[in-house]
Amino acid sequence: MYCDGSWVEVDVGCLRGNVATLRAALGDTRLIAVVKADAYGHGLGAMAGALARHGVNHFAVAYVAEALTVRMAAPTAEMVLVLGVAQAVDVPQLLAKQITPVVVSTHHAHVLSDAALAAGGRLGVHLKLDTGMGRLGFICPAEVDAAAAVCRLPGLDVRGICTHFSMVEPTRVPGAARRQAEKFAHALPIIEAAAGRRLFRHMSSSRAALLLPDCDQDAVRVGLVLYGYGAAEPGQRFCTEPVLSWKSRVMQVKAVPAGFPIGYYASYKTPQATDMAVISCGYTDGYQRHLGNTGQVLIGGKRRPVVGRVSMNWIAADLGPDSGVQAGDEAVLIGGQGDERIGADELARHCSTIAYEILTGISRQIERRYVGE
Ligand SMILES: *Cc1c(COP(=O)(O)O)cnc(C)c1O
Repeated sequence: MYCDGSWVEVDVGCLRGNVATLRAALGDTRLIAVVKADAYGHGLGAMAGALARHGVNHFAVAYVAEALTVRMAAPTAEMVLVLGVAQAVDVPQLLAKQITPVVVSTHHAHVLSDAALAAGGRLGVHLKLDTGMGRLGFICPAEVDAAAAVCRLPGLDVRGICTHFSMVEPTRVPGAARRQAEKFAHALPIIEAAAGRRLFRHMSSSRAALLLPDCDQDAVRVGLVLYGYGAAEPGQRFCTEPVLSWKSRVMQVKAVPAGFPIGYYASYKTPQATDMAVISCGYTDGYQRHLGNTGQVLIGGKRRPVVGRVSMNWIAADLGPDSGVQAGDEAVLIGGQGDERIGADELARHCSTIAYEILTGISRQIERRYVGE
């Protein structure tokens, strides 16, 4: 009955706690909830709705399609920002749904302005400055005048201005981050003079919000820390808790002798007579192959090594002899059980990657259950 795959549990009460923690730490700085990549794998519609119910008024996504989902879930949100490059065909919907794109170049500005005029509207936008990330936006300082000129286009209403850090070192506004902040500060008066008003300014993402409070502008764009990663050390500006758990079931337990080969190419042989569990989840679900013979899962409140190669739909765990574990028992891939906890950051270390990739890599086909509200 219980053998049909893994599921994700999203603790909405925990999310609410993280929002409250961030709010208290940020004071007057506004919180922009970054919910791109299906809210970092937590489920976009449900998360945007929950965040809106907890008073979050500002959202950011990568694509226009995501922004439309946020708008449906949070119809009265003050701002839904598209961090990617919106196209002319998107403009009627951006106008109708009050979605705010960033403008990344002079050409982009003209495309959006012309489309807005053709649609009989004036499109609210934020200017995106490249102060050192080397990705999207007007290069600073070379293209500051070009960015300022966007304010004179009749189809656009420039309301905000932003940039993005490429690296944030763990001390107060050091080297590279300081140079980026200085470039931003230099561009601001020039562009605000062209706009004829003060613009809504935002620069920091999670790590800068945590480590560089001096860099808070009007708002910070936080993703990772909202979901409870990257801010686990007490005594820092804030400390948040993981919202997502990934669970499955033991499908079969069998007692096997010493020297028993497990999985493709027998990359593990049992060192002693032991109980072996087969668990429903594999690389198609986002449980990466690197976790074979390196990762652990929680069963019966204990850590159990993942042994053998990760298959497409199954993994195996060595339970030790006389484990008492039975088919149908819960297995935790990410999350807590008893006194033990496995974080997405732990899986990330085994996979030479970051928690972001583990969270966003959990297959969209896996059911998200929302609990704790
Ligand atoms: C993804 C993203 C963020 C959020 O980053 P976190 O590290 O998850 O807080 C903020 N700003 C931009 C431009 C992004 O692309």
